[in-house]
Amino acid sequence: MTRMFPQVVWWVVPAGQSLRHATRQEPGAQMDGGPLAVLCGAEAKVPFTTPAGTTPRSVGVWHRCRDCEAVELSSELRHHDWDS
Ligand SMILES: [Zn+2]
Repeated sequence: MTRMFPQVVWWVVPAGQSLRHATRQEPGAQMDGGPLAVLCGAEAKVPFTTPAGTTPRSVGVWHRCRDCEAVELSSELRHHDWDS
């Protein structure tokens, strides 16, 4: 079952990138490698699912996109770091 939580912001490390961008699209519901709409408007792709038993590449990436932060800090949203 999928429920919508539009007030949630997900912090995701897009495929091929080394910092977290914020998105209102639940990343787990998107297609691997598909387009991801991040708040700052940068070009971003959904990260590929990490095989079971291995650590996602994005774990340990804490650097957040300043442009995304500037957007989401202006509203009351719940934040989740998300790793595929
Ligand atoms: Zn960003």
